[in-house]
Amino acid sequence: MNTSEPQLPDDYALARERMVREQLEGRDIRDRRVLEAMRSVPRHELVPEGVRPYAYEDRPLPIGRGQTISQPYVVAAMTEALALDGDERVLEIGTGSGYQAAVLSGLCREVYSIELERELADRARADLERLGYRNVHVRHGDGYLGWPEHAPFDAIVVTAAPTEVPPALVEQLAVGGRMAIPVGHMFQDLLLVRRTEEGVERQVLMGVRFVPMRHGAPE
Ligand code: SAH
Repeated sequence: MNTSEPQLPDDYALARERMVREQLEGRDIRDRRVLEAMRSVPRHELVPEGVRPYAYEDRPLPIGRGQTISQPYVVAAMTEALALDGDERVLEIGTGSGYQAAVLSGLCREVYSIELERELADRARADLERLGYRNVHVRHGDGYLGWPEHAPFDAIVVTAAPTEVPPALVEQLAVGGRMAIPVGHMFQDLLLVRRTEEGVERQVLMGVRFVPMRHGAPE
């Protein structure tokens, strides 16, 4: 047995604190509320048991159905880019493990999250409920189309990569709203899209690599 791998709850808390210090504060994450949220969400409780010992490492992890949970730094950078102050309604596309949704939960009013894979949607919904994240609403469906019933959203975070910004998501973004979205094939630009009275402004934040966004009938 490799004894350097976290085994006890306290080890996970220590690993999480070190993750925040080294991977987030040690890079360029400065939003105190984002750092606090990342300090409190038990990432190891949301990943499959087999990869739990690696939950706080500086890398993405497999979460089943060929999908991955992003590296903690990318979750923090996308969340910080949304500039949340606590009152927002936020849409997430690609619930996956539910980790990004759990981080958002304490930073805004309501989180609406859509997942294409039924198995992942069901698991994330159950895990988020078990952990007490009451303001997260998970739906099984195609996030390319957004969630019109709850629009407009003050912020949108997209965690699977389309080749173009889906028009429905721009339509469902409130004027003044922000969307963080990886766009491209294989390797993507993480874009910050702001909706203004006149149209949209786009800014490239960094290069990233996400699983592709699939568009079509939910599986
Ligand atoms: N945010 C997640 C990571 C998501 S990985 C987390 O914190 O764990 C990307 C997810 O997007 C995968 O689970 C994949 O099934 C989902 N996905 C891909 N295309 C989608 C679509 N059109 N609508 C909703 N979810 C989609």
